Amino acid sequence: MMRPQMSEFEELRAELYACRECRDLFGFEPRPVCMGNAEAKIVQVSQAPSVHVNNTGRSFNDISGRRLRNDWYRISEETFYDPNIFYITSVGHCYPGKSNNKGDNPPPKICAQKWLRREIELVKNEMFILVGKAAADFFFPKADFTELVFSDHTIRGKPAYVIPHPSPLNVRWFKEHPEFEESRVSQIRKKVHDVI
Ligand code: SF4
Repeated sequence: MMRPQMSEFEELRAELYACRECRDLFGFEPRPVCMGNAEAKIVQVSQAPSVHVNNTGRSFNDISGRRLRNDWYRISEETFYDPNIFYITSVGHCYPGKSNNKGDNPPPKICAQKWLRREIELVKNEMFILVGKAAADFFFPKADFTELVFSDHTIRGKPAYVIPHPSPLNVRWFKEHPEFEESRVSQIRKKVHDVI
């Protein structure tokens, strides 16, 4: 019996999961993580998996994810992990290790060029959400991050919104910009609910 042909998207995902490009850079075995189907309605792009996400292989399966789902989007885990609703990816697809115990290393630049550019061409989404500065810088390299958060954008002709990273370490930005949680996040939540 002939095996069904893989779609371009399926081929990309298989290659991505097999990628070990940064093994020497990390000094450990990379574990690429991303979730969702080519028909997902929302592409969410963040920085890179945390060590917990690396260990479980499940995106945003950590404190940041709980804040994102429960406080900001106000959706269930079931909806968040529905592969036809969210395509969850990042500019770096693997946990990049820690730098001198100060925090995680930045995502390798090669990763977004190698994978993210192709992912966003193949997923037929209706909306983008960029989580954190690394994702915002990839799509809007010269823009001020805070201005990006408080305005609406487009990527490939589709609506795009920028939100700060929900990490509990990201304390200062929230102190300086209480208006995000007071008003902006509810506007973005409505866009998310409209799409799903
Ligand atoms: S970070 Fe990206 S380029 Fe590096 S090994 Fe992981 S998937 Fe490959």
